[in-house]
Amino acid sequence: MDYQHILKEIEQELASQSFSGEIATYIPELAKVDPNKFGVHLCSLEGNDYFLGDNEEKFSIQSISKVLGLALAYQLEGEKIFERVDVEPSGNPFNSLLQLEYENGIPRNPLINSGALVVCDILISLLEDPRADFLAFIRKISGFSTISFDEKVAESERQSGFRNAALANLMKSFGNIHNDIDEVLDFYFHTCSLSMSCKELANTFLLFANHGKLLHTGERLLTSSKTKRINAIMQTCGFYDEAGEFSFRVGLPGKSGVGGGIAAVHPGEYSIAVWSPRLNPKGNSAKGMAVLELLTTKTGRSIF
Ligand code: GLU
Repeated sequence: MDYQHILKEIEQELASQSFSGEIATYIPELAKVDPNKFGVHLCSLEGNDYFLGDNEEKFSIQSISKVLGLALAYQLEGEKIFERVDVEPSGNPFNSLLQLEYENGIPRNPLINSGALVVCDILISLLEDPRADFLAFIRKISGFSTISFDEKVAESERQSGFRNAALANLMKSFGNIHNDIDEVLDFYFHTCSLSMSCKELANTFLLFANHGKLLHTGERLLTSSKTKRINAIMQTCGFYDEAGEFSFRVGLPGKSGVGGGIAAVHPGEYSIAVWSPRLNPKGNSAKGMAVLELLTTKTGRSIF
């Protein structure tokens, strides 16, 4: 498949369209990003890279990190994690408190904020040095030792994270947060603040395209069953309350973040990361979704 040619075609087709969405401003540090940035990076399982634009520029991956936290907790703790977090789409915004109250503090899935907070709580109980160990895990999966947290973004989130604090406190009242709330929030904000390029993200998500094995070393980190399940959660829950629309238009498992990034995988074929900060009203990158829709249309291949 000539992915480079296809990406070029997509770039040309989209150049004449204007994507008018707003960038995320509720985390003040994110408001400083140039809304016109645009990068794409695709890694094939054959070991080739294809890319466009600002593919090597780092941005805040935000909720895309929720998949990585889930992968580490699932690797370490197995099915037990699903006693504390469910695997159903929420149909609600990512930071909603509503369902949590009447579902007794059990989040709908690990890819909304409440679910990721529980995953962070699980990791804090399991890891000696959560921040350092999480970073080491990401560096290992991606093969890039330079990936880091962005302390300014983490601090900006801490100062504006009233809803996340409310979620954590509500779950604590139901007994579904075991560690100190501030510690859980601090770790959660750091995971969201991971700063990565499309190239680094696509390389990281190769793990999920490659059924749980690292492509660059051959090491198995997740069983193929666990990887299938993580991909299934991405497919059904990865795009806030627009997961159905993403499945409908694109047909790949993936995860978006309010920094304008989307990472997606075609198991057995490739991983791809797209970055364009303007968000549609549901909080997903408008141009990012368009790129992925055109990719599966032009290649004639999706997971369906
Ligand atoms: N750090 C963001 C928050 O908790 C993540 C949101 C997102 O990317 O969905 O509000």
